[in-house]
Amino acid sequence: MYQVLLLIAVITLVYLIARSARKPKANLSEKSTEMVKCEKCRLNLPKSEAIKSGNYWFCSESHKN
Ligand SMILES: [Zn+2]
Repeated sequence: MYQVLLLIAVITLVYLIARSARKPKANLSEKSTEMVKCEKCRLNLPKSEAIKSGNYWFCSESHKN
């Protein structure tokens, strides 16, 4: 009986870990595929690599000013 309970506990734990590990991964890929345009040079780049200043996006710190 103890072995069955242990098996159920392990399966539940693996399921919870797999579920929590998948969630942030999906959010991350969603963010990185979203494209923004640099206000200075009009370059398109992923939001994760862009720098935000007010309502505008920039490709690098030097283009921010
Ligand atoms: Zn730029």
